[in-house]
Amino acid sequence: MNTELQGIGMTSQRTRMRLVERLSDEGIQRVEVLDAIANVPRHIFLDEALSHRAYEDTALPIGYQQTLSQPYVVARMTEMLLAAGATRILELGTGSGYQAAILAYLGKEVYSIERIGGLHRQARERLQRLGYRNAHLRLGDGSQGWPEAAPFDGMILTASPGDIPAALYDQLADGGSIVAPLGRDTQMLTLITRNGDEFERREIEPVRFVPVLGGVVR
Ligand code: SAM
Repeated sequence: MNTELQGIGMTSQRTRMRLVERLSDEGIQRVEVLDAIANVPRHIFLDEALSHRAYEDTALPIGYQQTLSQPYVVARMTEMLLAAGATRILELGTGSGYQAAILAYLGKEVYSIERIGGLHRQARERLQRLGYRNAHLRLGDGSQGWPEAAPFDGMILTASPGDIPAALYDQLADGGSIVAPLGRDTQMLTLITRNGDEFERREIEPVRFVPVLGGVVR
């Protein structure tokens, strides 16, 4: 077993399973998603000083005024992508790398973009250390998408844009889906599905994410 996982100990194993039970009680139904939450070590994606809180169902700071999203929200967005049948997924907002790790664990080909160099480098190192070779990371402005890797049949925005950037619509395959927090005052987790030139929107539930910002911080 990987030493990261050995180091976690029985107490952490129990708190992890408690988190899985809690998410299941909160309505996360897909067994694959609960399995990913149980097996991807969230504590690796946090500073050591916060790792004892890794299996609480709460968002936690990752520096640079950014956060690792609440496990329930990660699970819900992952469930939506799975239900949509997404296999090749663009993520705007790598952050800690945890959401990308969950998708990579589930066998998806993940292309994740982060605008803050410090977060990008940390996430790349963590994902390499855990051996997720199907997670590809880039430092850049996620609003531009990743044209060389397009089309994607799934996209996940883990920061809230005013509206979906045009480049992302261009890079979405026909039949593909975008999961994103949309709205200015109240954000709604929204599922957008492409059908030819039509984009159907379905609002799922209220959420709160940091905003999409422009510019790259090296
Ligand atoms: N998915 C992340 C995780 O698993 O830790 C959490 C993401 S955090 C809530 C939002 C992230 O989006 C931040 O790291 C922020 O720097 C990033 N972000 C904001 N605007 C961006 C942009 N235009 N391009 C790429 N990343 C962006």
